[in-house]
Amino acid sequence: MTTTQPDDFHPTTDAVLRTEELTREFGDFVALDRVNLDVRDGEFRSVIGPNGAGKTTLFNCITGALAPTSGRVRFRGEDVTRMAPHERVRQGMGRSFQISTVFGGLTVRENVRLAAQSVAESEGKIPFHRSLFSPTDRFEEVESRTDEVLSEIGLADRSDEHARALAHGDRRRLELGLVLATDPDLVMLDEPTAGMGNEETQRTIDLINDVLAERTLLLVEHDIDLVMNVSDSVTVLNRGQVLTTGSPEAVAADDEVQQAYLGGVRE
Ligand code: ADP
Ligand code: MG
Repeated sequence: MTTTQPDDFHPTTDAVLRTEELTREFGDFVALDRVNLDVRDGEFRSVIGPNGAGKTTLFNCITGALAPTSGRVRFRGEDVTRMAPHERVRQGMGRSFQISTVFGGLTVRENVRLAAQSVAESEGKIPFHRSLFSPTDRFEEVESRTDEVLSEIGLADRSDEHARALAHGDRRRLELGLVLATDPDLVMLDEPTAGMGNEETQRTIDLINDVLAERTLLLVEHDIDLVMNVSDSVTVLNRGQVLTTGSPEAVAADDEVQQAYLGGVRE
């Protein structure tokens, strides 16, 4: 048994997401080095760091895409370290943009409905057997969740268009809608603005902040400026280690953070 240090910003026991000494090695190289995170209910946490800091490795160890070499991941207290990715999604750990699939040949509405339906069935949120709900009620619940999501992402008036006809920014909205449709307790995003220009990047961050305001969010991002206005707290990773966790203001003023960024590769 090891005792673990909670992260230095929220030494909290009621973390939605917790990593304990999370470590991932690739051969001799330590990509992730004893990382402790505690993300509370409703918190918007950003994890930032220069390219190569270990952000995606951390993200993958949390989603289950990658097995950590040592350490643990807990979701609502439960040890999910060895749980398959789809199992984690069912537990309420939301899929990210990257692994959500938009079907180009289906309409916007059909895409959202499929996502809403998949969770309604697999989670048993709308019980199939021994249910008070008739198939019609279930259909209506999925339909109304679909409508809600379409209006939340601002695509209600484009719901009958094929997904492949959407402009890049609208496609991102739809991808966000697919995450929302599964009603996750924790939403995790790895560089959701990758490949976007300045204006679209800002709009996407505003959209995330707006649409996901009520959710617990873990956003991985290399652009430090981008997350400063929207995050409740920021964790800085550097060379696989947590440099610091704190409020955006405290992190921005931190000398070590400045150095990591100036010393690291920054695009
Ligand atoms: P970030 O997302 O912060 O840019 P990554 O987590 O992708 O960083 O990578 C952290 C380090 O781990 C990098 O030096 C990278 O080259 C290395 N790395 C990542 N994945 C692998 C892998 N599958 N095999 C070997 N090295 C890897
Ligand atoms: Mg990355």
